[in-house]
Amino acid sequence: TLADRLSQLVKTMRGQARITEDNVKDMLREVRMALLEADVALPVVRDFIERVKNKALGAEVAGSLNPGQALVGIVHKELAATMGEGVSDLDLATQPPAIILMAGLQGAGKTTTTAKLAKHLIERRKKKVLTVSADVYRPAAIEQLKTVTRQAGAEWFASTPDQKPHDIALAALDYARKHYFDVLLVDTAGRLAIDEALMAEIRDLHATLKPVETLFVVDAMQGQDAINTAKAFKEALPLTGIVLTKLDGDSRGGAALSVRQITGAPIKFAGVSEKIDGLEVFDAERHAGRVLGMGDIVALVEEVQKGVDIQAAQKLATKLKSGDNFDLNDFLSQITQMKKMGGLSSLMDKLPAQMTAKAGQPDMDRAEREVRRMEGIINSMTPLERRKPELLKASRKRRIAAGSGVHVQEVNRLLNQFEQMQGMMKKMKGGGLMKMMKRMGG
Ligand code: GDP
Ligand code: MG
Repeated sequence: TLADRLSQLVKTMRGQARITEDNVKDMLREVRMALLEADVALPVVRDFIERVKNKALGAEVAGSLNPGQALVGIVHKELAATMGEGVSDLDLATQPPAIILMAGLQGAGKTTTTAKLAKHLIERRKKKVLTVSADVYRPAAIEQLKTVTRQAGAEWFASTPDQKPHDIALAALDYARKHYFDVLLVDTAGRLAIDEALMAEIRDLHATLKPVETLFVVDAMQGQDAINTAKAFKEALPLTGIVLTKLDGDSRGGAALSVRQITGAPIKFAGVSEKIDGLEVFDAERHAGRVLGMGDIVALVEEVQKGVDIQAAQKLATKLKSGDNFDLNDFLSQITQMKKMGGLSSLMDKLPAQMTAKAGQPDMDRAEREVRRMEGIINSMTPLERRKPELLKASRKRRIAAGSGVHVQEVNRLLNQFEQMQGMMKKMKGGGLMKMMKRMGG
C-alpha cells in the first residue's frame, strides 16, 4: 500500500539532516500518489505539491526526525492549513431571519444536511429555525424534508410541487418574518449533473432571498468529479461555505482539498452519518491526516516537533499496557498499529525475533499474509475471549478456526505468539519499553 511505500522511503532517508532537491523528489512523488489516491483532483494536486516543495526545500529537520518524516509533517501542516483556512461556524450576523441557502447536486445530501443544520442551530445556538423545500421536481423531496425537520425539532413550512420555487421562497420568508424565526433554511432541487436551467433557478433564489450563507453541499465520495461540480456552483453563486457529506464512507476525502481550492469557500461542516445528529464541525487537522492516509507518522512527527524525543516516546509508551493486563485486544491493536506506523518491513523489525524468524525477513508477501491471518483469527473471537484468552479451550478454538478459515493449529500458533509477546511486555518495564518505543519511532 501507499503508506507502506512511504514508510519505506522514510526509512531509506534515515541519517540525512536536510531536505534537499535530491531527497525530496521521491518523497514528493509518493505524496502526489497519496493525494491522487485520496481523489484530490489532478490540477489541485500539482498546485499543492509545488507549494509544499517550496516550503520544504532547505528546511531543517527537527530532533531525531529524518527528512522523510519531516516532509510528511510539512505536507500535513500545509494540508490542514489549506483546508482549515477561515473556518468558522455559520454566520448569522444579520437582521433575522438569517437565511441559509443549500446548493448542490442531487443526492449530495442537501435535504439531510438541512435538517442536521436545523438541529445544530437549535441545540448549539438556541435558534428558532424554519425549513422550507424549493425542490418541486420530486414530490417525495418535500415530504422528506418535512420528516427530517420533525426529527430535528424545527418547524417546516409547507410547499407543494405545483408552486414555483421563487414563490415558495417569498412565502416562507414572509412567514419566517411574521413569526420571528431566527433562521430560515432553504432546501433546493439538485440534478444529477450540472444543468443550466437549474443554475438559473438557484441564482434567482439567491437574488430573491439574499441569504447570509450559501452552502455548497458536496459528497465526499465524489472524487475527481467534485472539481467540475464545484466550478459550476462557484460560477453560479457566491458560496460562503462547504458541507462535505458522507465522510463516514471509506473515501479518503480528497474532495475536501479540491473543493476548498476551487471555490475558495471554507469547509464548515462534515456529514458523518445518515442520522440527524451525524454532523460535525469540520476539523481540518484531522481531515488532513485522513487524506494523507498516514495518521501515525503524522502523529509521531507532531510529537517529536512538540518536544524532546523522550517525551514523544513516553507518550506513545503509555499507550502500551504493561504485561499484567496485556490481552488479545492489545495484541491486535499492536499488530495493526505497527503495520500502520511503519509498513510491514519495519513491523518485522519491531516484532520479537522469534516471530519474525518464522515469517522470514525477505519474504514480505508471506509476512503480509501472516499478519492478515492473525487479524482474521482475532477478529473471529468474541470480545470476552479477547480479554480472557484463557477461555480458549478446544471447542472455542474450533469455532474460531472455522470462522476465520484456518486450521486449529494456526489458532494455537497465534496464541503462542501472543503469550510470547505478553511475556515480553511483562519483562520490558521502564527502560526496556522506552528503548523499544524509541526504536519504533525511528
Ligand atoms: P439531496 O438530494 O442533496 O437532498 O440528498 P439527500 O439529503 O436526500 O441525501 C441523499 C442520500 O445520502 C440519502 O440516502 C441520505 O441519507 C444520504 N446521506 C446524506 N448525508 C449523509 C452522510 O453524511 N452520511 C451518509 N452515510 N449518508 C448521507
Ligand atoms: Mg433533497
